[in-house]
Amino acid sequence: MKICVLPGDGIGPEITAEAVRVLKALDLKMEMEEGLLGGCAIDAAKDPFPEATQKLAKEADAVLLGAVGGPQWDNNPRELRPERGLLRIRKDLGLFANLRPAILYPELANASTLKPEVVAGLDILIVRELTGDIYFGQPRGIEVRNGERFGFNTMHYTESEIRRILRVAFEAARKRNKKVCSVDKMNVLECTQLWRDVANEVAKEYPDVELTHMLVDNAAMQLVKAPKQFDVMVTGNMFGDILSDEASMLTGSIGMLPSASLDENNKGLYEPSHGSAPDIAGKGVANPLATILSAAMMLRYTFNQEAAAQRIEGAVKKVLAQGFRTGDIYEPGMRKVGTKEMGDAVLAAL
Ligand code: NAD
Repeated sequence: MKICVLPGDGIGPEITAEAVRVLKALDLKMEMEEGLLGGCAIDAAKDPFPEATQKLAKEADAVLLGAVGGPQWDNNPRELRPERGLLRIRKDLGLFANLRPAILYPELANASTLKPEVVAGLDILIVRELTGDIYFGQPRGIEVRNGERFGFNTMHYTESEIRRILRVAFEAARKRNKKVCSVDKMNVLECTQLWRDVANEVAKEYPDVELTHMLVDNAAMQLVKAPKQFDVMVTGNMFGDILSDEASMLTGSIGMLPSASLDENNKGLYEPSHGSAPDIAGKGVANPLATILSAAMMLRYTFNQEAAAQRIEGAVKKVLAQGFRTGDIYEPGMRKVGTKEMGDAVLAAL
């Protein structure tokens, strides 16, 4: 298992250090090598995704990323912004499938803005297509037509693009509760009629998984009304952008949310859903659990080490049950800890 570790900026180095400690504590043969991405790479090599990092990422089986960005680089030209490094590595590695679980541990039910009984025990996975759809479709632009400005974009998907993301969703469902809900807008958009047709075709390859369909407006509503009805939700780039943010916020705790982006061979980039949190960087108070849970996803999706993934997830559940809380998820009566102490607690629970 060859892992490229890219701590990045802000709290990135603090939280990835804890995830690396957790990975090293498992009895698995791994090689890890660190590289620079984002603002730190701009400072060191005048490039947010330097050649050395490109090589490291290409040669690795998986990438573990902290976060990039910070106010000191905000006024740089576009090519020299940390986020540019993120877009480039995703493109370079051909990552087309974004997996974002939204899990609400019963102990954190009060962190959600929804009623605890609606969200306690929530465990859904949003699978979003990352490289197609209206975000990349041509033609696009703003022109003057008939004497007024005219803005336009193009939504499109090929059936092979739809097929491969649906397969990711079905495969993920097989490792979970065997239900896939495909989200589209087939009543209005032909492109998503094709999406639905192809979803039905792919479903025939997975007779053990149940496929349902939902229109995106209803899906947005159902996510806040009765989110626990979902297991895996799969959708295109734009709908997925919106629904995955909505779903993640059901849990109310950004420091807890991991994510994975996969290529066709399950090589993946694993990172917390949050950013580099410059406001708390260097203080040793950031929550490392989203990054630790991202490492668990890496074991599950790239390395097929389900038992090791569950060991990490079980350890995280245990530390929450024991009352350990970083500042972002703290409630009175709990035990407030910093980044490293939280890592220690997870290691002890392992
Ligand atoms: P952010 O997610 O970094 O922070 C939002 C809020 O959540 C802050 O108050 C922060 O302190 C808190 N927070 C985030 N992660 C936390 C953690 N693990 N533990 C405790 N608290 C945590 O979002 P932002 O403030 O909008 O962006 C800050 C920087 O991060 C920007 O430069 C942005 O471009 C970048 N960013 C990077 C990524 C990425 O690397 N994937 C994603 C989003 C934002």
